[in-house]
Amino acid sequence: MQVAESCSVCQSLILAEVTRVGDLLDYDRGDWLDPLTLTWRSALSRPHTPRRVLQEVKATLPPAARVYLDRVLLKGTPRPPSTPGPPDLLIGPLPRRPNRPLHPFTASRLHELQPVRFQTAPRKHLYTFVLHTLHALTLVSRPDTKWRDLLPPLEGEQPRWASLYSTLVPRPVGDISWRLLHGAVSRGTYLARFNPIPDTCPFCGVWETLAHVYLECARLQLLFRLLSNLLLRFWLHFSPHLFIYALPVRGLTKSRDLLVNLLLALAKTAIYKTRERRLADGVSCDCGAVFRSSVHSRIRAEFLWAASTDSLDAFEEWWVLSEALCSVSPSGSLCFDPLIGGESKGPQPQPLLLWAPLP
Ligand SMILES: [Zn+2]
Repeated sequence: MQVAESCSVCQSLILAEVTRVGDLLDYDRGDWLDPLTLTWRSALSRPHTPRRVLQEVKATLPPAARVYLDRVLLKGTPRPPSTPGPPDLLIGPLPRRPNRPLHPFTASRLHELQPVRFQTAPRKHLYTFVLHTLHALTLVSRPDTKWRDLLPPLEGEQPRWASLYSTLVPRPVGDISWRLLHGAVSRGTYLARFNPIPDTCPFCGVWETLAHVYLECARLQLLFRLLSNLLLRFWLHFSPHLFIYALPVRGLTKSRDLLVNLLLALAKTAIYKTRERRLADGVSCDCGAVFRSSVHSRIRAEFLWAASTDSLDAFEEWWVLSEALCSVSPSGSLCFDPLIGGESKGPQPQPLLLWAPLP
């Protein structure tokens, strides 16, 4: 057989409740099933495949079986009860006690996964299930993020994994935030175990830990001051917790929350890229300037697109919130706020929040 062995054809046949040769017989007509009937029952668009299946099955039957089936059809044996479909197979985690202590915020999601019907389980669910089963013993004693120890969440706070990606955040930028929250970004103290490289910060020479690279290094303080000022315009206080764990996206403040998460993600990307560049070329880039430039170019690109597609209203709805980053003049031109590189119209506001490194 060829056609009848294909996975998709098998699936269609199971849908049509055809799991044995007897299911291909039409006892009322005393003949084999009409290919059109089989087409309809298996939700196929054309009778070509059912016709081939019938031909293949008939050709595969031994002569004695053909004779027997013809006799059954001729005598008009009453229709046997229809074959029940394949039994439901449920797949789910096998409860067992881990031999290592369970971390209160374990990275393992095995305990959350409910048994699902194997035949219809979404591919993503099966992938997660297999992954978490194979690595159950490792994941169960590991926290979901390294920052739980480095920067214990305050009351009511938790890592906002879902906020790291959105329609505003480009995938590679979201990936850096995601890796940072997992602690899966390179840093001197880790790489020095495998390569003959210094385990100190390439900017200030301090022992380079994860917290140093993304929170404590002196070079970041101007960037954080800039973020503090920007976030105040959205009535938010910048904090290391907000920076690492991201802002939850809530219905009423959705536009603001998405925009703030984009700013946080671009800031992390600026830190990541300037450090990579320093290690590669020895060039010292101001991460605040890189951040401003990326915000600037993103807004300009969005504005040009909106202007060319006559959708400036939608642009203003997303990007001109509280005029914190930019505004559109009555003549239709884009004006940036001085904080992100626009022309200053008066004295620069003094920062209201000063960043203090972690103790
Ligand atoms: Zn440093």
